[in-house]
Amino acid sequence: MLTIGCHLSSSKGYLAMGRDAVKINANTFQFFTRSPRGTKAKALNHKDIASFLDYAADHGIKKVLAHAPYVLNPASADEHLRSLAGDIMADDLSRMEYLAGSCYNFHPGSHVGQGAETGISHISQMLNRILKPELHTTVLLETMAGKGSEIGREFEELREILDRISLSDHMGVCLDTCHVWDAGYDIANHLDEVLNRFDAAVGLNRLKAVHLNDSRNPLGSRKDRHARIGEGCIGLDAMVRIINHPALKDLPFYLETPNELDGYGKEIELLRRHEENAAGSHVCP
Ligand code: FE
Ligand code: FE
Ligand code: ZN
Repeated sequence: MLTIGCHLSSSKGYLAMGRDAVKINANTFQFFTRSPRGTKAKALNHKDIASFLDYAADHGIKKVLAHAPYVLNPASADEHLRSLAGDIMADDLSRMEYLAGSCYNFHPGSHVGQGAETGISHISQMLNRILKPELHTTVLLETMAGKGSEIGREFEELREILDRISLSDHMGVCLDTCHVWDAGYDIANHLDEVLNRFDAAVGLNRLKAVHLNDSRNPLGSRKDRHARIGEGCIGLDAMVRIINHPALKDLPFYLETPNELDGYGKEIELLRRHEENAAGSHVCP
């Protein structure tokens, strides 16, 4: 069965997110560890976490994905901002231990004129500072659209970062379908070829999650504007091929489309209907 969910608001806590997920027939979800724009995190509510873990086990919710605040820039030219990004991510990772076995996704950052090479070196230094052998969370680099000076538009840049991490078995990649499309990878017409390129550069074994978003803009636009499933330039047929592709179908999928909860529910229903060989689907002899 497809593991699929969407980005949910964490404002009411973990149990509330679990309930929201179940309401829309999701069996996973993504959430921000703290305000996506700010840096303040709420104190952990251990009772809420314990209730959530019970609820998740009862309702088949698995592979929840945390997303770092997107204002952080581990590639910044400003040393102070770089160390702030590292401190916040280290704090997030220590909190994530209560959800042991989950993934934590972040945007590699923007080099803001220093050049990709310098940016990549900042990012890998930060990861080497905060990753600890005893942590149980896999940290994911997100593939980026290449807006401005974003690092991670090309698969090779992600590989460059991964190559420099000493505890690299704590690292993986999250592929965002809108971002790779905007970056110029034609997943609508040449999915196999794009996945082969990913495999050659990064390794498909590193791929741990997929952000499933359509794009408002044409291939290679570098804009990063998400569209609802089937309502953008990538299209529904491509989304259906993505969720059913042998290299992808067992990964967790997270919708980050412009929707409220009921809109996400409709997208999940639509995608579940298009899952091939789903349990209960009729196979002719
Ligand atoms: Fe993201
Ligand atoms: Fe994303
Ligand atoms: Zn995006």
